[in-house]
Amino acid sequence: RKIHVSGTNGFIGIWVARTLLERGYSVRSTVRADAKAEHLRKVFSEYGDKHEIVIVPDITKEGAFDEAVKGVHAVEHVASPVDLALEDPYELINPAVKGTVGMLQSVLNHGTSIQRIVITSSVAAVIHDDPTPLIFDESDWNEQCLEILARGGPQLTGPMKYRASKTLAEKAAWKFWEDNQTKIKWDIVVINPPYVFGPTIHEAASPSALNVSTVEWYNYVVRPTSSGATNEFLATTGSGGWVDVRDLAEAHVQSLEREAAGSKRIIVSVGAWKWQDFVDEANTISPPPKLSRPLPVGNPRSESANPATVHMLQYNTDRAKTVFEIQYRTISETTRDMLVDFESKG
Ligand code: NDP
Repeated sequence: RKIHVSGTNGFIGIWVARTLLERGYSVRSTVRADAKAEHLRKVFSEYGDKHEIVIVPDITKEGAFDEAVKGVHAVEHVASPVDLALEDPYELINPAVKGTVGMLQSVLNHGTSIQRIVITSSVAAVIHDDPTPLIFDESDWNEQCLEILARGGPQLTGPMKYRASKTLAEKAAWKFWEDNQTKIKWDIVVINPPYVFGPTIHEAASPSALNVSTVEWYNYVVRPTSSGATNEFLATTGSGGWVDVRDLAEAHVQSLEREAAGSKRIIVSVGAWKWQDFVDEANTISPPPKLSRPLPVGNPRSESANPATVHMLQYNTDRAKTVFEIQYRTISETTRDMLVDFESKG
């Protein structure tokens, strides 16, 4: 069976493609330019013609994926901008929404052999900021970011624009699917990951040129002094969830294979964390990683005067537990493998 993966040159996309190939699937990758295909040709060369690449220069153009969906059995739509510094929110929203709806439209018109479309959404489409700690599940939608988008002003920060792009894209996908029920014979699965960490196999000239979540990890766990993160920041800042990119890729593969995943949005998360948790893990690794500077220690939790931690966001992951069978990597495994990766990147 052949699977179309969009955004294969990115952090998550390349792991999704690799996991599919390892499991015996054929993969058709789409990327924006031939220069972005070079690295993929190299890393997947052992798979011969089981891996092919189609260039889609502009995913916002009507019919952009028409050729890419012909003759494949399923789609993993991963491509979407992750850039928290863009001024104009529509530079995020347009590719996110039009890319997603365009993919579904191309499948409707040309994907005659397609049975399932998996879409990488985010918990950004689920959560909202609140003064009290909350536990979110798949019935929650992030309406807050849409209100802030409509209002504009200082609350419309980079992360808020990104949340709006993911919320609008996911809402548009479900609407398209509902509106076209009489015409389609495929279903969709939406995966909502929180922060995704783990070793990188996509192309990046240096750690600071990696994707947003990996750069944050590098900035706070490996070089907080350079990035200006204080011990207080490390102890109090984190998120309601994280997942290793290899386990997330596994969830993308199981989403194709498991009947129970059909027509569901699914939060895939290991648990809440603060940066200090990763810093603590990094300092327990033996032998210590060979990095150009010593690892920070922050204010280790075990020695902290006030170890009580408040997590403002948490996730109920019952649905993922029911649908998938995944032995999630621990914070310690992910930390070790990321440090090994950074050792090799200098
Ligand atoms: P990357 O930045 O590494 O990958 C993003 C991918 O999307 C790249 O292939 C990129 O291609 C493509 N892309 C971005 N903008 C456009 C555009 N305007 N037109 C066409 N393609 C575009 O990020 P991740 O791998 O981390 O993210 C992949 C997906 O996972 C996204 O949908 C993201 O929202 C989602 N996600 C990520 C999380 C994380 O913590 N990393 C958490 C939750 C969800 P190009 O190189 O050409 O820009």
